[in-house]
Parts: sequence; C-alpha cells; structure tokens
Amino acid sequence: ELLALPAVQAVMTVMNGGGEETRLVGGAVRNALMGDKIADIDMATTALPDVVMNRARQAGWKVIPTGIDHGTVTVVVDHIPFEITTLREDIETDGRHAVVRFGRSFEADAIRRDFTMNALSMDISGTLHDYFQGLEDIKHRRVRFIGDAHQRIREDYLRILRFFRFHAVYGRGAPDPEGLLASISGSHGLAQISAERIRVELLKLLAGEGSVSAMEYMADSGILLRILDGVVLLARGRRLPRQAASIEKLAAYAVLVREDADRLRELLRLSNDEQRFLDNYALVLERVESRRDIWEVDDIRRIVVQKSALCVLRVFEALKGEPGRYITPDALTLLERYVSGQEIVPVFPLRGADFLEHGIPKGPEVGRLMERARSLWFEDACPQGEGVSENLLKRVLN
Ligand code: ATP
Ligand code: MG
Repeated sequence: ELLALPAVQAVMTVMNGGGEETRLVGGAVRNALMGDKIADIDMATTALPDVVMNRARQAGWKVIPTGIDHGTVTVVVDHIPFEITTLREDIETDGRHAVVRFGRSFEADAIRRDFTMNALSMDISGTLHDYFQGLEDIKHRRVRFIGDAHQRIREDYLRILRFFRFHAVYGRGAPDPEGLLASISGSHGLAQISAERIRVELLKLLAGEGSVSAMEYMADSGILLRILDGVVLLARGRRLPRQAASIEKLAAYAVLVREDADRLRELLRLSNDEQRFLDNYALVLERVESRRDIWEVDDIRRIVVQKSALCVLRVFEALKGEPGRYITPDALTLLERYVSGQEIVPVFPLRGADFLEHGIPKGPEVGRLMERARSLWFEDACPQGEGVSENLLKRVLN
C-alpha cells in the first residue's frame, strides 16, 4: 500500500528515467510488510546525487541536500519528505565510520545494512527484493544480522544496541542466539560509542513492546552495565569515577534518558531505597548543573539524610568554589562538616513498626503518616536524641 501513495509513484517514476532504478528501502519496507506505522520513507537509487537534485527541481519539488556527503538528498512531495540515497558500497571500515563509494548494485547496498529485516527493497512494480531471507525473518519476528554477526558488530558496535532495540520492538521470544552471543563478546566495544547515539537507540528500545525482556537480556549478559559505562560520558560531559557504584551509573543514565526514568525503575524493579536514591540523584544532578537556585541548609540536610553520600559529594564538588553564589555560607559550612565527618548524619527516628505499635493498621496509612512525620522532622532541622520519636508520633497521630 506504500506504492499506492501518488507521491511515492511520482518520485520513483521521475528518478527512474534514463536507465536509472530507484527502490523503497529500509524501515518503510519492513514496517509496510509488518503492517506497522511508517516513520519515514527512504529510497535508494542508482542515480547520482546531482541527477537526483536536478530531476527533483525540474519536477518542481523542494530539495534539501540533507546528507549530500553520504549521497542523501531529501525531496519533499505532497508534504511528504523522501530521503533518497545513491547506492553505496563499503570499501573498508574502522569500527565507527565506513569508507564508502557510490555503486550501482542494490545487493551490495543491502549487504551493508544491519539486519535481514532492514535489508529488503521494493521496486516500482511492487516486486520485493529479498537477498537475505528477510521476509522469513519478518514472518517469524526474528532479528538476524546479515552475514557474520561477530564481524558486523566489529564494524560498528552500535549494532549491539540496535540488535536489542529491534528485538524489543519487533522480535518475539528469545533473541537470535548468534546475535546474542556476538553482542556479548563484542560488548567491550560499546565504550567507544557516543552517548548521543546510545541515547537514540535506547529511547527507541524503551518504547518497544518487548523492552522489559530485552533489558533483562542486556542486564543478564552484562551489556546493560557496559552501556552505563559508555554513558559515563553523558550528563553533559560530566564523567563519573570509574569505580562508581552501579546505582550511581544508573542514576546518571536516568538523567540521560530523562523522560523515561520512571519506566527504567519499573523495568529494573528497583527497591524503595534505590528508587529514592535515583530520584534524589537525578534531581541533585540537574539542580547542580542547571545552577537554577541557591542551596540552603535545609537542602543539604535533606540530601544528606536521604543516604545519598554520593549526591553530597557531587554537590560539594560542584559548589565549593563558589560560596554565596549557588550555596549560602551556612549551607556550605554544614556541607563541609558532613563531607569531613565532623557532623554526624542524622537518622530519622521512626520506623513503620512504631506506628503499628500505636494501633495503626498495616497499609498505606502507615506510609502517609511516615511521610508527614518526616517532613515535620525536617522542618525542625532533624533533631536527634531522647523523646524525639515520641514527640513526632504524638504530633502526627493527633
Ligand atoms: P526507524 O523506524 O526507527 O527509523 P529504521 O529501520 O528506519 O527504523 P534507522 O536507524 O532510521 O532505522 O536506519 C535506516 C536504515 O539504515 C535501517 O533500516 C538499516 O537498513 C540501515 N542502518 C541504520 N543504521 C545502521 C547501522 N548502524 N548499521 C547498518 N545499517 C544501518
Ligand atoms: Mg528511520
């Protein structure tokens, strides 16, 4: 039904003149075959980029040389953008950038692509060209690498993430064993992939129906931690120490994928403590970095009490050089005392059991009262010692 679009017909007809051939490729063909929504329409052509641009202009279409270095031109017809790329062939690759030249073979173009389901092409007559049994794999919802998975991953380590991404979105059952093994053995290479590229793939992965299972495979095989290592470069250029705890990496990661942090928590079934840490850490990191407002004594006490030693250090590192500007002098003194161990971290004096002993039935009410008591305690500047817990209990139970 892709071919039924008049704009698709028009573009292909214009580009096919003079012995050239143009086909639909990539995600559009895959999604059309799966009956999925089509995000963007890509075409591959034997025509050189200059020819593509000239013909499109003659037809009165808008032309944008989006990736002219890679032979990609965007042509807009009926408000639909078509990405038209001149066929390419690989000459060599160094793991990140392929060295390519223009070619005339659709098969050579297909072989450069990552998975069999992404390598199908369709010509103007509606004939499907399937060089690597992609249609079979689409039917079985199998994400398989084209060629030797180990080799393909060595050419571009991002393909590991793409493997899990496409599995999460389109796969069924367990991931392809060969791809999984190759991903595990190539996972060290993820360290050289930029956080931005990782981000794009991860966000798409998280949106997939099979994201939970895909993340579990990634966690079990150690790949998730590897990305977190890669993502260490994230959070706007701030580097985490090598020995950072996984929860801290996770927190940094949560900042990176900001809008999906809640989902992340769900996926990884974090404990309440871990969740609280994550919330705090993300907030602190953002607040420190955005330098939105001034940190006061109360803020410092809160992050300290909520067991986020790492958060405290981050705040301290970020703010110590600039007293008065981002942190009040009192707050800075307090922070210094905590960091040097001169000040003992106050401990919240109540536990759930205290409420049960006072006749509150087990359930959500206990949590509510606890939160209420916690904020009263903070308002009083976290008092310690005799009678504090009794006093708090009395106030919230009234
Ligand atoms: P989406 O719907 O997410 O856009 P897509 O299949 O269009 O899916 P893109 O990342 O936009 O995915 O890539 C377009 C096509 O380019 C892919 O279908 C694939 O054939 C090829 N491709 C993209 N990235 C790679 C890569 N790292 N290695 C090999 N081929 C790739
Ligand atoms: Mg795409």
